[in-house]
Formats: sequence, structure tokens, C-alpha cells
Amino acid sequence: MRFDYCPKCGTKAVLHEIGDEGNMPYCETCQRPLFDLFPVCVLCVAADEKGCVALIRQSYVNSSKFVGVAGYVKSGESGEDAAFREVGEELGLGVQSVTTIKTYPYEKKDMLMLGFLVRVERGDFHLSGEVDGACWFTPADAVKAVREGSIIQQLIIDCMPLLEKQ
Ligand SMILES: [Zn+2]
Repeated sequence: MRFDYCPKCGTKAVLHEIGDEGNMPYCETCQRPLFDLFPVCVLCVAADEKGCVALIRQSYVNSSKFVGVAGYVKSGESGEDAAFREVGEELGLGVQSVTTIKTYPYEKKDMLMLGFLVRVERGDFHLSGEVDGACWFTPADAVKAVREGSIIQQLIIDCMPLLEKQ
């Protein structure tokens, strides 16, 4: 989100040159630059000790393809904390470790996605109400189960060296 008005005091933003940033929206009342604001989300490849990947179905996201566990980072939370929390909440599996893989801009929704490999204990899923189903896949099958060209597909590919090195 690019600000036309100051979110604190409502003054109309003016363009102001800020160092290396160049001309950007600025509140003359608060005397502060109004940097673009966008949500930060975690996207997780949940994998067991053998490298099998758990993907979920969420009909409101995609009715025909599997997706990865994802969610918004809360204020005061690290990306790793959010990945740990979301995998626990959505899959109901014990989380062993969280590894940061890469970050991905999601231009269509103006978001920043933080990608993680989350190691989980293999067990029965205890799915949250937001999840319609979950399945285990080999890494190669997981790549085909998600939407072609999606960020989760890229993240699974980026996790491959760690998934195959068992
Ligand atoms: Zn202001």
C-alpha cells in the first residue's frame, strides 16, 4: 500500500526527497516519510525426517491444486515463530525445526512471502478449520501437486537439496 494520506494524522502526503529513496510520500505535520506498507506472510514446506512433504487443500485458495501452509506474520513475531505456529495450527503436527530458505515478492497481492522448510514429526494430521485436507508427497510429486509457476512450487524446488540429502 502506497500512502496518499498520513495514516497517523490524516494530512495529505506530499512528495519529498529522502536520501537514496528519492521522491517519496511524506507527512509535513508528523515530519516523517510514509514508506510503502504491505503484509508479510510465511509460506512453509512441511517435511518429515524422510523428506516427504505435507501439502494442504484449501478450497477458498485453490479448488483443484494443493497449497502450502501459509499465514500472516503477527506484530512482534519473527518469521520463524510464525512458520512454527502456522504449521502447528494448520497441520496439528509437532514441529522439530524451522529453516529459512528464501523470500519471495508476491506482486499480484502486494505481499512479501518468507519461505521456510519446517521439519515435522510424522503422525496423524489434526487439521484446523481453515484446512480442507492434507496429504504426504515425495518432493517430486509435491512439485506437480501445486499450481505451476506458484511461489509454493518455487519454494519446494528451492528446498529440494535439503529434502534429498537425508
Ligand atoms: Zn502525519
